[in-house]
Amino acid sequence: MHAFRDAILAGAGGEELAAIPLPESYRAAFVLRDEAEMFAGVDSADKDPRKSLHVGEVALPELAPDEAYVAVMASAINFNTVWTSIFEPLPTFAFLDRLGRESSWGARHALPYHVVGSDASGVVIRTGSAVRNWKPGDRVVVHCNYVDDQDPTAHDDSMLADNQRIWGFETNFGGLADLTVVKANQLMPKPAHLTWEEAAINALCNSTAYRMLVSRNGAQMKQGDRVLIWGATGGLGSYAVQHVLNGGGIPIGVVSSPDKAALLRDMGVDAVIDRKAAGYRFWKDEHTQDEAEWRRLGKDIRALVGDDPDIVFEHPGRQTMGASVFVCKRAGTVVTCAATSGYMVEYDNRHLWMRLKTIKGSHFANYREAWDANQLICQGRVQPPLSAVYPLEEVGEAAYQVHHNLHEGKIGVLCLAPSEGLGIEDPELRQQVGEERITLFRRHQA
Ligand code: NDP
Repeated sequence: MHAFRDAILAGAGGEELAAIPLPESYRAAFVLRDEAEMFAGVDSADKDPRKSLHVGEVALPELAPDEAYVAVMASAINFNTVWTSIFEPLPTFAFLDRLGRESSWGARHALPYHVVGSDASGVVIRTGSAVRNWKPGDRVVVHCNYVDDQDPTAHDDSMLADNQRIWGFETNFGGLADLTVVKANQLMPKPAHLTWEEAAINALCNSTAYRMLVSRNGAQMKQGDRVLIWGATGGLGSYAVQHVLNGGGIPIGVVSSPDKAALLRDMGVDAVIDRKAAGYRFWKDEHTQDEAEWRRLGKDIRALVGDDPDIVFEHPGRQTMGASVFVCKRAGTVVTCAATSGYMVEYDNRHLWMRLKTIKGSHFANYREAWDANQLICQGRVQPPLSAVYPLEEVGEAAYQVHHNLHEGKIGVLCLAPSEGLGIEDPELRQQVGEERITLFRRHQA
């Protein structure tokens, strides 16, 4: 892949890239099927991605007609890579095996290793015979919605497809590698004013937050809506905050340290709650929640923004869901896409039905939503919350940071890009948007 990297760095065009021979193998981050039981009996917090994530050479798979090979310049850590690397809630090899049974092209994915990663920026180096809209040389980012376009259930909202998958989590050949194999309908233009690592981190979390808040498939936020955002400087939260501010809403951001509170204020959020300082104890013990603590959070929110939140942006799950349902405004929406602290959630149903609230499940985004969310990045209306960058060789440490909530925003990973700061094609737009805004998280972390 070094020949591709050197050519890309030298500004090679599509014809030149298409003439470079493909390698037989490439460098990738993966977990191993025969290590799937390595953490048996270990507490979740002690399962260490640094032990399970390996970096080494894997064989280049054949390219299907509707696919492209992308030379990956940079990628990102998402929480799904943490889940894969700690084999929770179950080893992802079951997903690969199911895909393997679907078709001969699917069979390529069922391997003794799983190449992880659900974000990437890079350059198309080959396309399959059925690809029309992309060609070698195109600078791209990759979204992770992996659908079969011959499946009728994928033709309303593709997230409703029976066999919808997340690339690099429920499929093999993910983005934490020097090369990735993606369907052509996962490709989107790279934001020209961003570096490879700034461009690489957005698609998964930005698209998810966009669907949850902005899309007609989500909570359909309106101007003036108050939106409670858990983990407001985290991966999802840092985009949610920007979508709420852009859309004329009023974010109430919850974080867990004075540092994160300061960062949130720098993003333009006035209503900030430090959950650690407030010391909320929504659970008295493992089995019992405390309504008085839910009420205390509700009062704190009203004191900051004058009313209950119209929308609650929920993803911590078990620890917070009871409180989220309680504090949500009458007829409001709790929109949820995850359960980091536990998926067996509990809430008081009386508060839901008597006050006509809705709990809405959401999951990633369809191509249109991902594309529209990417346009906001391309236009400089949403900034990349990049706080740290690791080389691919240290992917285990990068995943460890996210697993233990030691990061802010997103962590980027350099794959073929030899250093940070490369890949900007539109310096004028960058200047217009403002270096300060683009690098806020990076400077804050430093
Ligand atoms: P991050 O770790 O980057 O951010 C999550 C934030 O949540 C943290 O910054 C933390 O903020 C907050 N948090 C963590 N635990 C708790 C808790 N017990 N109570 C309150 N707040 C908590 O992760 P992401 O934002 O990238 O992802 C969050 C979850 O969403 C993950 O489980 C992930 O797998 C899932 N996800 C699902 C997607 C989907 O399509 N369904 C897409 C993307 C993510 P602080 O400590 O400052 O409060």
